[in-house]
Amino acid sequence: MEEKNKLTMEKLVTHCKTTGIVYPGSDIYDGLANTWDYGPVGVELKNNIKKVWWKRFIQESENSYGVDAAIMMNPKVWEASGHVASFTDPKMDCKSCKARMRADNLIEAYSKGETDVDAMTNEEMEAYINEHKVKCPICGNFNWTPIRQFHLMFQTSRDITGDSNDVIYLRPETAQGEFVNFFNVQRTARAKVPFGIGQIGKAFRNEITPGNFTFRTIEFEQMEHQWFCKNEEQGFKYYEEYKKEAMDFLLDLGFNKEHLNYKDHEKLAFYAKAACDIIFKYPFGWNELNGIHYRTDYDLAQHQEYSGKNLFYIDPMTNEKYIPHDVEYSIGADRLTLAVLCEFYDEETLEGGDTRIVYHFHPAIAPYKVAVLPLQKNLGEKAREIYKKLSKRFMCTYDESGSIGKRYRRQDQIGTPYSITIDFETLENETFTVRDRDTMEQVRMTVDELIKYVEEKIMF
Ligand code: ATP
Repeated sequence: MEEKNKLTMEKLVTHCKTTGIVYPGSDIYDGLANTWDYGPVGVELKNNIKKVWWKRFIQESENSYGVDAAIMMNPKVWEASGHVASFTDPKMDCKSCKARMRADNLIEAYSKGETDVDAMTNEEMEAYINEHKVKCPICGNFNWTPIRQFHLMFQTSRDITGDSNDVIYLRPETAQGEFVNFFNVQRTARAKVPFGIGQIGKAFRNEITPGNFTFRTIEFEQMEHQWFCKNEEQGFKYYEEYKKEAMDFLLDLGFNKEHLNYKDHEKLAFYAKAACDIIFKYPFGWNELNGIHYRTDYDLAQHQEYSGKNLFYIDPMTNEKYIPHDVEYSIGADRLTLAVLCEFYDEETLEGGDTRIVYHFHPAIAPYKVAVLPLQKNLGEKAREIYKKLSKRFMCTYDESGSIGKRYRRQDQIGTPYSITIDFETLENETFTVRDRDTMEQVRMTVDELIKYVEEKIMF
């Protein structure tokens, strides 16, 4: 972040907890290894982020379709996808304090993101850690075990036969739900290649080093979109298009270009022909926000082989028969929410020396669109009548406690774009003042004028 904000992760975590954005999970039991719960303000923010993503990538794409697949899938899915065999991370244990760490994360943190760990083998990572004497971030000692591979999929069991056939997994990514439904969607939507399938849903990974607030958690939501196309030529073309669309989406949300960048993967999975991340400048350094991968026809071909079902697409015009290629765009809903919380935070000094914390969210994702504030408690009846009308249109909040200045500050710190003050003039002519969060300017409007105004502003 820019220096002017001086936003640290500690500050952000405290701000989120005190304003009802995010609380530690199972808080009264002292939490559970980096799980987090969204509070009343945070759930609105994250839901709005999911809504604008869905609008952009499903609703506005003439040929994209949504699904909501089950979290638990036939275990063969994860054999076909390669997760059972190789969804692992390089772990090292600290022999002094027993902390378990990811070798690549240790190097990233040590080199402040300057070393490209994606391009390193396990041997190279171990050599780097030994050469630089990278210490345990928990106890400060340099006393590591060698690197071992650690499986990231959570397992559970239906306990029917009591043997290993009972094992099922919590999905570690939503993508397979789109792949296994390729044929269903193509048929029922009568979709013609190229077309897309997207979904938003939970994924679970037994991450060795969760941390940095909601950046890396063991349970998170992904927003994924698979674009199926004909062949390699189209695959590369759409890969470039999705790189741009993914970036445009962030810029349209108001992200500063200087805080985003592309990072090409140097080490590609054997089936992938191109892959990159969009990285963001978090307070703890540059790191991944989302990924774009050109995955060839690997996924559908694997599912065809493992399921024994025919997943060929037959072009209705030419009768050509082929397995479509896939360009995947994947972004964590929680990770994007975190980036939004970092990017739009500001501390401002006002005229007269007062300071305020303010979130400059795009109105489309702001948790509450309007705060209804009666100037005095005895204006409550009128204020509630107005709240009732406005809340039929969009999420509003009501606050009648404390001075009006304090109430404005409360709204600023959760990013409410418009605060309306009901005063005695409202009783006479049905108008109220509307205060703009960013400019702090005030104008008088009626309910109908405000609805029209806000509806235009929250368009995304
Ligand atoms: P990373 O390198 O950070 O572990 P990844 O490259 O494994 O992520 P993908 O498998 O491509 O991530 O997942 C797509 C997106 O899902 C990521 O870009 C990120 O936004 C989100 N994501 C992945 N893992 C987590 C996690 N443990 N917690 C929160 N979000 C995650």
